[in-house]
Amino acid sequence: MTATNPHTGEKLRDYPTLNAEQTQAAIAQAHETFTTYRRTTFAERAGWMNRAAELLEERVESLAQLATNEMGKTLEASRQEVLKCAKVCRYYAEHAQRFLAPQPAETGAERAEVRYLPLGVILAVMPWNFPFWQVFRFAAPTLMAGNTALLKHASNVPGCALAIEEIFRDAGVPQGAFQTLMVGSRDVEAVLRDERVKAVSLTGSEGAGRAVSSTAGDVLKPALMELGGSDPFIVMPSADLDEAVQSAVTSRTINNGQSCIAAKRFIVHRDVYEPFRDRFVAAMRELRLGDPMDPQTDIGPLATAQIRDELHEQVQDAVSKGAELLLGGELPAGGSGYHYPATVLGGLTPDMNVWFEETFGPVASLYVVDDIEQAITLANATRFGLSSSAWTNDPAEQERFIEGLEAGATFINSMSVSDPRLPFGGVKASGFGRELGREGILEFVNTKAVSVG
Ligand code: NDP
Repeated sequence: MTATNPHTGEKLRDYPTLNAEQTQAAIAQAHETFTTYRRTTFAERAGWMNRAAELLEERVESLAQLATNEMGKTLEASRQEVLKCAKVCRYYAEHAQRFLAPQPAETGAERAEVRYLPLGVILAVMPWNFPFWQVFRFAAPTLMAGNTALLKHASNVPGCALAIEEIFRDAGVPQGAFQTLMVGSRDVEAVLRDERVKAVSLTGSEGAGRAVSSTAGDVLKPALMELGGSDPFIVMPSADLDEAVQSAVTSRTINNGQSCIAAKRFIVHRDVYEPFRDRFVAAMRELRLGDPMDPQTDIGPLATAQIRDELHEQVQDAVSKGAELLLGGELPAGGSGYHYPATVLGGLTPDMNVWFEETFGPVASLYVVDDIEQAITLANATRFGLSSSAWTNDPAEQERFIEGLEAGATFINSMSVSDPRLPFGGVKASGFGRELGREGILEFVNTKAVSVG
């Protein structure tokens, strides 16, 4: 496994991968540890989780540099990500016991209740775009519920993968309760088929989701899929345009544009289309592309050459079919990194790939509509349904968006974010199951009905 710096294109380090025997040993250890770990108390687990939060804060600088070096997000964005991981650890340390408390039921039996028991070894297949956050939002509830975890992280962030394992080890989490498996994607199927592995959580592309959920279906194991998105960002005439523009820029370019809940399609009412477009393009033009270690940089490189090339192909496809290139769209001259400029497209039609594909980089698509029904129809005209953002100060319109948008979340007058206190996940091709909130910790438990007498 090789880590490459996407800003320079240079190799950082090679990491050894596990062979089949070592993988088997890790699964065995996770399974064996479960038999004792499941009997630890919530208080013990909370102690380890709170200590992990402290370690994240103590190590924020070195962890942030690791993420920025391996996947190119700006250093400040990496720091914020690490600190957010500390929050999710503390959130589940504080609330897991209450979330999983037995729920009494009235059935006529002497005693009836619902219990939430751990399942066993849970496999996580995780992506590189938020190399810490995606893992911690899985690991914190999973470990707090009494499961053990195996992490197969993305191959381009091996240093982050090992640093996470180290944090849990140093926090005192029992040996074997959280292990990083340094294996490639082709080894995932065998791990998931192993009968000691009880469920899988995957965040990543639709293709990876289809492959892994097919295997999970074949062996009848629970699967949680958090896949791509092509989120709409809808602006109606009553919206505060300054705030909408500012949020639109942040939402499209956060994490160098590589976020599943980034706003990707900007659907704007005709009455405010021109002022929105002009201000949005002007603000996107101001963003500085460059070295993610430089505090002046707004947009660092994309994580891999392939992602940059695929994004550029999407833009060229649209332009060749008549889209208006309002900003960007040209590969930067010189340099060996995988940079792509802030780009804005207008005049889009359904024959263009960006109409229905996810754009995983700082490329915004603008659409104009005549009324709210057209806005909702267009917003829903996608395979995806992760999140959505709608800007309007009309309460009836707000309600119409909440009811009508096919997405796992609707944010009114703010951009979509993930927050430990709210469930997170999608509908349609954006996946199934929920992370975060109480719903997140309920994904990997045996919801057991108990009746006595
Ligand atoms: P992938 O989906 O390929 O990678 C995510 C994880 O899945 C990695 O750990 C990867 O391992 C693993 N994986 C990939 N294919 C399989 C498979 N067939 N079986 C088992 N595991 C697999 O994402 P990419 O890095 O290729 O990014 C491509 C696209 O995915 C992006 O353009 C974006 O559309 C989407 N994406 C969405 C994310 C989200 O947050 N929802 C996050 C990242 C990507 P390995 O690295 O070893 O291949």
